[in-house]
Amino acid sequence: MFLGRYHFILNLFETNLIKIIFYRNLFHNVIGFGTKDFIPHTSWSLLSKLLFKHFINRLPLKDALRILLNEESNLGTHTDIFVYYARSGANAWSLVRYTWAQSFSRPFTIHKPLQCPGCGRMPGSITYNCKKSPDQSSVVVHFKCGAKTCDWQQQKFASKAIIDMKDHRSIMDKVGKAWAANNGQWCFEEMKPVTSF
Ligand SMILES: [Zn+2]
Repeated sequence: MFLGRYHFILNLFETNLIKIIFYRNLFHNVIGFGTKDFIPHTSWSLLSKLLFKHFINRLPLKDALRILLNEESNLGTHTDIFVYYARSGANAWSLVRYTWAQSFSRPFTIHKPLQCPGCGRMPGSITYNCKKSPDQSSVVVHFKCGAKTCDWQQQKFASKAIIDMKDHRSIMDKVGKAWAANNGQWCFEEMKPVTSF
């Protein structure tokens, strides 16, 4: 979807569109949503407010987005947000992933399965614990089904490059602390932009 001349919002799985955007160099910012089953209407609240703040109030897109994400924990439960910011000079694009953490449903930004993949039990059956990886490069989240008759378990990793947007500290600093409870916490991660296909 086009937003004015220089903004573009898309599903990141539409790679043909991404090619057009980068090769023609027409856009200042590109916003994408990083879930396969993206439901567009979940993003309208954020996008409509973002357009107002950026085009009417003239706030830089990055500043506007960071202010507004605090009101969008519902969107955070559904999808990550990827923003390509255009720069001038040698590094033409930077890429930032905005991702949401919540101690019950997305510990350290990792999706906890809604149902146990092993036995199909409903939410509440899966517990988890967290620790730092031996090389200190990531947080290891270990999920486990609490049912005695089920041995499903899974380990996932969240990079230390993921930063809490409120205090600008790495999620590594949050291990062992009460963090991202209630409405959760938005985080961001600077990523390497992919501009060739
Ligand atoms: Zn189970």
